[in-house]
Amino acid sequence: MGKQDSGSIDQWAKIRLVSLRLALAAFVILVADIPLHAIESHKQSLMLMGSGFEITAIATEKATAQQAVGIAIAEIQRIEKLISEWDSTSQTAAINRNAGIRAVKVDRELVDLIRRALSVSKLTGGAFDISFASMAKVWKFDRREHPLPDSTVVQQASQHINWRNIQVDTARNTVFLTQQGMRIGFGAIGKGYAANRAKHKMQQLPGVVGGVVNASGDLTAWGQSNHPDGWSVQLANPDSRQKPIGWIRLNNMSIVTSGDYEHYFTSNGKRYSHIIDPRTGYPVVGLKSVTIICADAELADALATSVSVLGIDDGLYLINQLNGVEGLIIDEDNQLHPSKNMQINYYGNAQ
Ligand code: ADP
Ligand code: MG
Repeated sequence: MGKQDSGSIDQWAKIRLVSLRLALAAFVILVADIPLHAIESHKQSLMLMGSGFEITAIATEKATAQQAVGIAIAEIQRIEKLISEWDSTSQTAAINRNAGIRAVKVDRELVDLIRRALSVSKLTGGAFDISFASMAKVWKFDRREHPLPDSTVVQQASQHINWRNIQVDTARNTVFLTQQGMRIGFGAIGKGYAANRAKHKMQQLPGVVGGVVNASGDLTAWGQSNHPDGWSVQLANPDSRQKPIGWIRLNNMSIVTSGDYEHYFTSNGKRYSHIIDPRTGYPVVGLKSVTIICADAELADALATSVSVLGIDDGLYLINQLNGVEGLIIDEDNQLHPSKNMQINYYGNAQ
């Protein structure tokens, strides 16, 4: 892991006292001893955006790696402030408060994020819809067993889900939710966006040669790794975190998993995931996890949620149509459904 051999440097200094020729010879050996790119790494785990993040920077100097991780954290905190629907002072909360009342002027960055979210809605026929958030008060994903809410309550709240009623004015940088009762939330795209931005900020720092941003399993890895074989990640087994089903190599790629194993509730023994089907307002059932791999972490994040809504057939159809996007769906019977070119190194007995 880029450990500089300071013993050799001392040795070189001593040899220099003896003779210049010998010293030069020692110097050549010393240089050959150091890996082509001497690297240091720094990793920090902390809570951000309500999730556990792990940020790793690889750099030529330890101090640079530390600085890069600090910059990444500051960037993620900045984004959290912008997109949190729960922080009443955020621009997102202002948009929600003014649903059905007026357009709200926001930062261009938020306008652009919303526009990209709307383009995923279009791409997925509305399976992805940030206005799912009007259901926030109806469902409680507390990992407990409780009865389903009254169907008329679900039906009424679900009428407010419609991405076409999110009006974005790019000339004025305003956002207007045209119906009262509407609400938007970035739970399905925010961590991916934050991972992209944190990576971008780290890459801008001279001396940073690689890194990983892991937002509770929404992971983006780039550049040089501190492992000789490059970056690789394990694919979680939805039933047992300790027993991954396989591993894949990640070269400048992002991998995101949407699963029903973290935020869910059960009713009559049936498990309801925190992903809402915008067509019904009901939580998605039947899939244990959806993993998406592509270069862009935000797109991977959005697609993992979308495919969870679309289900196995329509979900795989969508993934297989998109260039540079692969995925794996695990259904409730633990059957694996990989996309056409998904390369997984299985640990055996998983398939
Ligand atoms: P995780 O938070 O575990 O990474 P996801 O990326 O799949 O999971 O995001 C799930 C979150 O996305 C939900 O908690 C909710 O905030 C939001 N969400 C739920 N349903 C939808 C949907 N149909 N479209 C967009 N966002 C959704
Ligand atoms: Mg997602």
